[in-house]
Amino acid sequence: LTDRIAGEGAAAWDIHYRALARQTAGEAITVLSVGDPDFATPAPIVESAVASLRGGATHYPDVQGKLALRQAIADDYHRRGLAAGPDNVIVMAGAQCGLYAAAQCLLDPGDEVLVPEPSYVTYEAVLRATGAKLVQVPLSGEADFRLDPAALEAAITPRTRALLLNSPHNPTGQLIDAETWAAIAALCQRHDLWLISDEVYAELIFEGEHLCPAGLPGMAERSVVISSLSKSHAMTGWRLGWVLGPKPLIQHLTHLALCMLYGCPDFIQDAACDALTTPPAELQAMRDVYRGRRDAVCAALAECPAVAAIRPPAGMFLMVDIRATGLSSQAFADRLLDEEGISVLSGEAFGPSAAGFVRLSLTVEAERLADACRRLAACAERARAAGASPALSPT
Ligand code: PMP
Ligand code: GLN
Repeated sequence: LTDRIAGEGAAAWDIHYRALARQTAGEAITVLSVGDPDFATPAPIVESAVASLRGGATHYPDVQGKLALRQAIADDYHRRGLAAGPDNVIVMAGAQCGLYAAAQCLLDPGDEVLVPEPSYVTYEAVLRATGAKLVQVPLSGEADFRLDPAALEAAITPRTRALLLNSPHNPTGQLIDAETWAAIAALCQRHDLWLISDEVYAELIFEGEHLCPAGLPGMAERSVVISSLSKSHAMTGWRLGWVLGPKPLIQHLTHLALCMLYGCPDFIQDAACDALTTPPAELQAMRDVYRGRRDAVCAALAECPAVAAIRPPAGMFLMVDIRATGLSSQAFADRLLDEEGISVLSGEAFGPSAAGFVRLSLTVEAERLADACRRLAACAERARAAGASPALSPT
């Protein structure tokens, strides 16, 4: 088996699958280890898919994606200041498929791609499959994991071909602000780099604003925007996403799709088109619910000296600093599952700079989440007290 496909991040969700297995076996487990909305897809979207299927949408689809959907996606970016048309869009089976395909079409073996770290765990495997190398640019927990463009620029070498950025960010929930985007756009142009922008959480903003960097001057021709309906529309299982970029890249992606994906199901594209052109009222409601959950977590953890939550302005996740426990993030996550039946992911799974942090998903209702946080805090406090006791202390 080829080594190119084995991503180091593959083991990140082991604890999640362990938690699910225990839940299936009947244990009361609170699963905070995956970014899968707990909401059902809004009913109008489901109805639209059913109507399309009943109407006979059962044939091979357009490989690039239905024109009406590509138009709806392009229109959605107009409001973000990007002059894109349907020829700038290919429909993909989720952002994940879009990322993989875009990497295949942009990168050659030996290319370097700069990725702020911690980062979404599949990036390493996506890039490695092309023969390119992921170069980590550490973010600091002390600075709430905010991106510093100077650190990115310092990591550029003659082999650097692209930046892969994700705002709002998984796992930290941080947003890249307008000033930082302007600096990033300037450095992409200065060093002739592609900007791959993963924007799957763009609709889940609590404070601040999502800025699409492809809309900045001089960036449309070097930007590749990747997104999906997975998070914004509670549609993770539908596998509907897209890549937006310069026409030659989209044509190249269409050639790849012809031999790989052969398009996304027609009836799902019809439903996606309706979802974008007639946004269901539930979308704003879901955003408000996530914000309420974020606030509930921060309030529940605020009182406990053994943990410190970083309040995210966006996204579906929250990082909790558990360094005061003296445990590694994996050891703490294991202990939390064993002692309290709560599953979270180890920050280290996302990169070494998140060692000592765990990632919580905002995917259960606020009261249950707050209860889980109080139990997480108690678990951390027990570990801290045990570590700090004279009998165990090294001195
Ligand atoms: N990028 C990031 C940052 C993610 O967290 C995820 C997982 N939801 C994806 C891409 C893949 O999303 P999709 O479900 O659209 O494939
Ligand atoms: N992107 C989501 C997460 O980070 C879910 C990915 C998955 O299910 N593998 O948790």
